[in-house]
Amino acid sequence: MTSTPELDTRPLVLIVDDDLTQRVLLRGFLESNGFAVGESDNARACLEKIETSNPKLVISDIVMPGMKGTEMLEVIRRTHDSAELPVIMITGEDEPQQIVEALRLGANDYITKPFEFDVAEARIRTQLALRESREELRSSEERYALVISGSNDGIWDWDLRNDEIFFSARWKELLGYAEGDGEETLSLWFERIHPEDEGRVKSDIQKHIEGVTLRLDCEYRMRHRNYTYRWVRTRGTSLRDDTGRAYRLAGTQIDITESKVVDPLTGLPNRNLFIERVNNALNRMTSHPDAYFAVLLTRISNWEAIKQSYGQSFCDKVLIESSQRMISLSHAKHTFGTLGENIFGLLLEDTNEALDAVDTFMRIRDNVRQPLILEGEEIRPDLVAGIFLGDTSLEDGDEAVHAATIALNTADETAAKSYEIYDTDMRSRVVSRLKLETDLRSALQKNEFVLHYQPIYQLDNNRLYGFEALIRWFSQSRGTVGPDQFIPVAENTGDIVPIGRWVLDSGIRQIVEWNKRFPEREPIVVNVNVSGKQVVSPSFIQNVTDFLANSALSPNQLKLEITETAVMDDEAKVIDVMNTLKSRGIRFAVDDFGTGYSSLAVLQKLPVDTVKIDRAFVSGLAEDERKRSMVEMVVTLSHGFGFDVVAEGIENPEEEDFLTSLNCNYGQGYYFSMPVPADEAMALIERDQTSPVASNA
Ligand code: C2E
Ligand code: MG
Ligand code: MG
Repeated sequence: MTSTPELDTRPLVLIVDDDLTQRVLLRGFLESNGFAVGESDNARACLEKIETSNPKLVISDIVMPGMKGTEMLEVIRRTHDSAELPVIMITGEDEPQQIVEALRLGANDYITKPFEFDVAEARIRTQLALRESREELRSSEERYALVISGSNDGIWDWDLRNDEIFFSARWKELLGYAEGDGEETLSLWFERIHPEDEGRVKSDIQKHIEGVTLRLDCEYRMRHRNYTYRWVRTRGTSLRDDTGRAYRLAGTQIDITESKVVDPLTGLPNRNLFIERVNNALNRMTSHPDAYFAVLLTRISNWEAIKQSYGQSFCDKVLIESSQRMISLSHAKHTFGTLGENIFGLLLEDTNEALDAVDTFMRIRDNVRQPLILEGEEIRPDLVAGIFLGDTSLEDGDEAVHAATIALNTADETAAKSYEIYDTDMRSRVVSRLKLETDLRSALQKNEFVLHYQPIYQLDNNRLYGFEALIRWFSQSRGTVGPDQFIPVAENTGDIVPIGRWVLDSGIRQIVEWNKRFPEREPIVVNVNVSGKQVVSPSFIQNVTDFLANSALSPNQLKLEITETAVMDDEAKVIDVMNTLKSRGIRFAVDDFGTGYSSLAVLQKLPVDTVKIDRAFVSGLAEDERKRSMVEMVVTLSHGFGFDVVAEGIENPEEEDFLTSLNCNYGQGYYFSMPVPADEAMALIERDQTSPVASNA
């Protein structure tokens, strides 16, 4: 029967000595003390044994033939340090020089011949014990390093005696720093703590160091490298000396932003948390009817302008700074939140303040409006707000926030006021507006749009010059809806782009048909209204060009009407598009001239052919001296710039006469004809062939 040799667990000690007697003595002593022993009579053989047998300790004679003990020691130390493989040298009694030399070369200790076995044993055991504890330390350090590098937690280790601190790569990464980035000093940590949390964190640490708390565990906000605030949770424990004084504090740090439901940019509660707080306020008011609350939503009203002029990180800083200014005026009964980009919420839970929400808003607004200097630029954020006053008829907090949003949007649209207080009418207006948007969206598919045409006459000879195409919406559900009611809505939703495309397409087809039908007369011109949003939409130039190419219409039979306000909204871009189309032969008219803010001087910049004087200046001019001189001035200057002029809204012969006397080129209005369906418009062309001008007066 074969037996497996037992694994030898005894520590192996190698002895190298050329003197057999010494070896035998030592060996017997060591083995009787529980060591395994290997022996060699020369240094080279010993070196070989070291490589093959993994000894825990070497005991070496110094003086040997061939390689000396000290030489061997040098070789050993190239690959094994004194912690890894202790070497004890054997020397003669009176050879202090040799001892000094051996210790210098890396010997751990020495024993002298003749052996005093007690001393030898003590020294050998000491070295082995040291070796073992170092090995333990090393492997625990390796374990530690492994934990640190593999951990999802950031690790920090603070030596309290000299304030040196170590941060793991992950710790830094959580704040946006790469491994080598950022000084490893306490300031990397403490200077990034949110000012509101700093005091609390420091006192928590102090309490733990003083032994008041067993563990350190705190949650607070820290500034990320990208200037946003992150919520972190720091946990740690300290090592204490015999007197109980903490000398080292170490632990972990994790990012808990998500769980704190805060907005990462501003560090404020996010929508979910904010609504939860409103829910609480609502519940409180349900049980205590006089526990009023108010929800105030506010945003920077000139945000679009700021965004257009500056980059993202600048804008982020504006939001952070503005939110700081808001909360700097807050107290315990205020809850701030960030409900979206540039939407801040404030929940007021103090009854008096809720009733005075406008007052609170005005104070906040005044503070935020102070000049803000960032990156050397000065800006002045302004605020607009929607306010909802607590009402227990609401289902939940979400509904309160929604109501405040409606008020905010209403305030935003009416530039005159910086805030609106929600009322129920507001909701019904919003609801009907939403319904209009929905109906409008399907109107194209349902074929509910029709073009009517209003004739434009030459004033000097009363001949038909052309038509203005005007859209009509015959809605199945709501009857006839005027363009003044739905065009602004369509501009807002973007539906103006497909609707405008349909108008252009239909108008061009119509004019081609008429001009084919009446080849003998001067071609009819069709004016099509285009809105600013439509003109700057990416497909506009291509659409117009395609429609012209497909219809074989001569471009000078199409004139696009654009209002002066539409031009002003995005002047450079609109003028750019106009120039491109003008180079392809298309002509432009400025519509509703006189109602916007632009002066006649601005007209010069526009690549237009025609000015249409708004009917506000035409209607009633017979009785109004100021209107007459205004109209006269517009006609004269327009002619001076080389534009022809259309007077809109002529309703009676006096107006017509006056305009004719000014040499105004064209006229349009109920005096000549209302806008009419295409077949009636064609009848007007026919009539123009035989008996010029048809006044329905
Ligand atoms: P607009 O381009 O200034 O069109 C002239 C408006 O004045 C038309 O109103 C027309 O019916 C009305 N009108 C004409 N003569 C008289 C008159 O003698 N007296 C009075 N009181 N009114 C007169 P409508 O058709 O309601 O259109 C209103 C506005 O809607 C238009 O003003 C135009 O800005 C816009 N619009 C109409 N169709 C379109 C379109 O297809 N696209 C775009 N973007 N806007 C359109
Ligand atoms: Mg027009
Ligand atoms: Mg007009």
